[in-house]
Amino acid sequence: MKPYVPSGQSDPGGIARMAGACLAAGAVAGTLLHYVERWLNLLLLFPALLGAVAGGVGVAVIAQKRIRAPLAAALVALAAGALAYGMDALLSWWELDAADLGFLDFLQLRAEMGTRIGRVGSSGSPLELGAVATWILWAVELGFAAGIAFAVAWARAREPFCEPCGRWYGEREPALIAGGLAEETAVRAALEVRDAVGLARLAGTHRLGAGCAALAVRVRRCGGCAHAEAWVQLLRLKRDRRGRLQETVVTRGLVPLPFWQAVVGALSGGRSGSAGA
Ligand SMILES: [Zn+2]
Repeated sequence: MKPYVPSGQSDPGGIARMAGACLAAGAVAGTLLHYVERWLNLLLLFPALLGAVAGGVGVAVIAQKRIRAPLAAALVALAAGALAYGMDALLSWWELDAADLGFLDFLQLRAEMGTRIGRVGSSGSPLELGAVATWILWAVELGFAAGIAFAVAWARAREPFCEPCGRWYGEREPALIAGGLAEETAVRAALEVRDAVGLARLAGTHRLGAGCAALAVRVRRCGGCAHAEAWVQLLRLKRDRRGRLQETVVTRGLVPLPFWQAVVGALSGGRSGSAGA
């Protein structure tokens, strides 16, 4: 299958709008947590929350301004996640109002004071971190906030887009059960050589019962035209111990729409193996 490659385009001013919105959201969220953290500090969870806010606002702008430049979008989100995490230290430094103390010197002083990690409501003695361990903790937390923001923006800007129509592909359609896990090679081969009849035959022989696993094909296509290629994901579906369906993407790419229509046509001729996964 041909890989989908984002065009790198966006609406005029898309990245600038995203930067403004993400950085503002990151600054506001970081400021709120700066005050909350006087009473409560949830290690890693708060930085993850900041990354999710910065990245989530980025995702909304990516969708609205049609940003198909994953690296630029992800770097903007990364900067916003880092700013959100840094707000606590920036505000503390600013509140100190010590004119001759630089920001890095302030951080070093704060690190030397160490970090106490104690569970909320726990009476046991808290864990004390020294300066070096505190710097490491900060680096990990910063990585969390920035990394989560980067990852969600990166994933959103890489979603398939129809350039002639200027629109994102439609919602994903219900997955088609394409065979058992043992048939992965055959299913991949049928997708590669565009063997619609072969793929439909494999799909028609397998069902996803309770507690079993299957291969599935999920498709997204442009809702605005009938010639843009279909975007296909090949998935492994497995039920976990609680019976929830877990999915792993095996491969993804573009196939000609007539090929996919032929698969659907061949299936509706026989027994369909579709599942709402
Ligand atoms: Zn289209």
